[in-house]
Amino acid sequence: MTVLNAPAVLGELDEAQIRVDLAAAFRIAARMDLHESVSNHFSAAVSADGKKFLCNPKWRHFSLVRASELVLLDADDPSTMERPDAPDPSAWCIHGAIHQRIPTARAVLHCHPPYATALAGLADPTLPPIDQATARFWGRMVYDMEISGPPDDPAEGARVAGALVGHAAMMMGNHGVTVVGESVAHAFEELYYLERACRSVVLALGTGRPLRPMDDDLAASVSRMWARYTDQGVAHFAEQKTLLDRDDPSYRD
Ligand SMILES: [Zn+2]
Repeated sequence: MTVLNAPAVLGELDEAQIRVDLAAAFRIAARMDLHESVSNHFSAAVSADGKKFLCNPKWRHFSLVRASELVLLDADDPSTMERPDAPDPSAWCIHGAIHQRIPTARAVLHCHPPYATALAGLADPTLPPIDQATARFWGRMVYDMEISGPPDDPAEGARVAGALVGHAAMMMGNHGVTVVGESVAHAFEELYYLERACRSVVLALGTGRPLRPMDDDLAASVSRMWARYTDQGVAHFAEQKTLLDRDDPSYRD
């Protein structure tokens, strides 16, 4: 099972840069239609132990998020949720629990993108390895079909965080997806490819013709191949920020 690599720069990235990257992730996600209403949350750790993390302010549209307004929360200090701009309790329960338990999850992105959420509603939401995007998640994804309560229940947050340990992505049955990464850029690439993978499966199933998944060995080798291309995710994120800068650099404010 693939486990996240320990961040090479743990604790060395400054909060200002993480704010800019996380704000960019919201803007890019909105452009890609990965958002839903003014809900869903992305977070990024700013302390070496991962417990202090930034999160979007309550009910801010993804396309409007600015670096300076991201809320700094402490997974060990529930009183930080008493701030007037604190996110809703589901952010605290899920993201706080993950940051508390998985210090290598420097960024945690949770949303309800259209194709992934469509798959999450199926009796069998597993991703068959039918192309490179789907095979990327072979052995790296956990399918959590054990929802035991609403996402703003602390017990549910703890359960979700426990199930995510050792995985890069989680398909949350009847809900959506969560991905983690060693940086905002790495996590965003996981989210981007996860939605692409789910789109491939939904479109392929929609033809009504039989799927032709790779065999397990081939799927595993393609998944391992992706591990050699993590720099691609960093480059992709940088290019996306260049597009933001061309059109509206206010996410940096
Ligand atoms: Zn959700």
